[in-house]
Amino acid sequence: MIRKLDHELEKSLIIKSANVRLETVKRIHKVGAGHTGGDMSAADILIALYTYMNVNPENINSKTRDYFILSKGHSAEIYYEVLAEFGFFEKKRLDSLGKLGSEFGGHPTKNIPGVEANTGSLGHGLGIGVGIALGLKRDKMKNQVFVLTGDGELAEGSNWEAAMAANKFELDNLTLIIDRNYLQISGKSENVMPLEPLDKKMESFGFKVLKINGHDYREIFEALNSSFDGKPKAIIAETIKGYGIRDGEGIASWHHMVPNKEQVIQMEIDMKRIVEEINNV
Ligand SMILES: [Mg+2]
Repeated sequence: MIRKLDHELEKSLIIKSANVRLETVKRIHKVGAGHTGGDMSAADILIALYTYMNVNPENINSKTRDYFILSKGHSAEIYYEVLAEFGFFEKKRLDSLGKLGSEFGGHPTKNIPGVEANTGSLGHGLGIGVGIALGLKRDKMKNQVFVLTGDGELAEGSNWEAAMAANKFELDNLTLIIDRNYLQISGKSENVMPLEPLDKKMESFGFKVLKINGHDYREIFEALNSSFDGKPKAIIAETIKGYGIRDGEGIASWHHMVPNKEQVIQMEIDMKRIVEEINNV
């Protein structure tokens, strides 16, 4: 499916992103826990995906829907906020986040409307996606499967087993998006477990590879719209961990840092400015 990103849609997504980012950070501040850094790096990718994919609250049980697996399940807070934004459940339900007995845990489960798989144990999402994509292909279905992994997560060997299977079964209905923020919980990914040359690695595993700015909606849409050329697709989305939080951008310790009151207020000012500026374009 091709979905065109015109100027008006791009503007609306930038505004949505500013609002969703801010709401997520406020919620993390209130609850006192969350994976703030990776939430912020994945925000634009998630918003672009839910705009692009053929999946919504009405067709979530349909056999023709597109599938999305958040393999980096620890980015649950932004995922919940995006699912609510796209109408899978009322935003008010998120008020229970962080409370005992809440359906919204620190990692997503299938109890939550819109969530296709329980994730959070890293390195599992791509294998799940490969299985769904293979099943759809064998049933001659046209729907697509999308998987979002972290970059640090690629140190899990199960990703590479899944990648080999994606190549073997020529899964040209599977898109892997890698949130390439070059950081993971314990530091720089290239120090902890080097991935480069990541594009060449993915190519050698039989993927069509695209490298983009993961905060630029035009580039994300262009990559999603590009043809598969008979192969599974890997989009290396270069992002900034903590994007949008002044004190948190590009800092590994913000993996699960909770923003303080001043940082939330600063973000409120910054996000408001983004919305004002985009409204004047
Ligand atoms: Mg990372």
